[in-house]
Amino acid sequence: MDRRFHRPPLESPLRISCRVCFTRVGVEPDVVEPVDGWYVLHCPACGGSFPVRREDLSAAEVEEHSGPD
Ligand SMILES: [Zn+2]
Repeated sequence: MDRRFHRPPLESPLRISCRVCFTRVGVEPDVVEPVDGWYVLHCPACGGSFPVRREDLSAAEVEEHSGPD
């Protein structure tokens, strides 16, 4: 089953430092991929990827499901 993200606000306050190049990467659905209970963030700056915790993403209102308003 393919799970989709509910898109966060355009001005997401959360940024995570890339573990490869240390660029502050804005957490957006385009760069985040769910992987077996974790999330992998793909850095647009260096092309690297690294796992992040779900707790980190929830702070940016990135959800794996879209509920009713
Ligand atoms: Zn990077």
